[in-house]
Amino acid sequence: MPKATDRLVQAWLLFVRSIPQLWTGSKVSGYAEGGPYHCGDCKYAKGRKEGMPWRDGQGRGRCGHPVIEQDSAVRVDEQGRKIINLEHGCCEFVDDSGITPMQEIFHIW
Ligand code: SF4
Repeated sequence: MPKATDRLVQAWLLFVRSIPQLWTGSKVSGYAEGGPYHCGDCKYAKGRKEGMPWRDGQGRGRCGHPVIEQDSAVRVDEQGRKIINLEHGCCEFVDDSGITPMQEIFHIW
């Protein structure tokens, strides 16, 4: 049986594909790489909870948000993980609520 999150994501995909474009960026999630926001502040950037977003050899991150994982407009690596631009990428599901005031002040993530 699918998890509640899986059912929500499937319902979201059905909905968003049945309506006109809601936002700039990809239709499913609004992912875009034009800035000025950045995935590097978002809790869904892999490694972010541990204090520092994980980066590959080219400096790109990976996203674990369930909608992004279903967004075919976002590129995948050889392991099927979604590739994000930590400096200039963002989407409509961004969540930077995990950043503490001290991290905000000293930029230590
Ligand atoms: S802003 Fe969107 S694409 Fe970027 S890490 Fe957060 S959920 Fe993923």
